Amino acid sequence: MKILLVEDDNSIAVSLVDGLTDAGYAVIRAATGVAAIELEAAETPDVVLLDLGLPDMDGRDVCRVLRGRSRVPIIMLTARSDEFDRVLGLELGADDYVTKPFSFRELVARIRALARRVELDGVPDAASGADAGEQPSGPDGSAAPTGQQIGPLEIDRRTRRVFVSGVEIQLTAKEFDLLAHLARDPGAVSTRTEILENVWDAHWYGPTKTVDAHVAALRKKLGDHRWIEAVRGVGFRLEVPA
Ligand code: CA
Repeated sequence: MKILLVEDDNSIAVSLVDGLTDAGYAVIRAATGVAAIELEAAETPDVVLLDLGLPDMDGRDVCRVLRGRSRVPIIMLTARSDEFDRVLGLELGADDYVTKPFSFRELVARIRALARRVELDGVPDAASGADAGEQPSGPDGSAAPTGQQIGPLEIDRRTRRVFVSGVEIQLTAKEFDLLAHLARDPGAVSTRTEILENVWDAHWYGPTKTVDAHVAALRKKLGDHRWIEAVRGVGFRLEVPA
């Protein structure tokens, strides 16, 4: 099965090309929208992975052009969930989308699901085995007791609720996972890599500044930036504000 990867970011593209090749796919890559449109015509790939933020064209326009002449399945790679109007993308003819940072396993699961749907799947059981689940099992496991108390902070892993001084705060799924990860060992430093691996899954194809963005959002919701201390050049730790 042949995949056309349209991605201008070299670090992401190289990882993906390597991973997909290892998983048994033939991969061709385009770094611009114009190249994508030419390559799709010349190579007739079985699936297109299409980054939305391209240097020369909007990925949506690339999608529109491809869809205007081809039924090739298209999976959009979007930078943030809020950047992408799912309905619009699907109206343009994309078949699916994944939001960066996504795990390689998740991406392969989507490709396989799509390939199955269009009956293209000639790829041996390579990459991810049986696990096509999109729900990463809680990276922190579920062994931890519910209602962990850290100073005025209470984290209930069972219900995924968080309270500060008894007042519940609303966290996104990733913010909760990040907090739960840091809270496994309050005071201990977690490196960005550890955080990425535990909160975002083992394979990482997104900018590391996503961690910092989530830390910033979490600090804001916790009401005191000192809850999460940045350890310069290393990572972050959770601490009760003095
Ligand atoms: Ca891009």
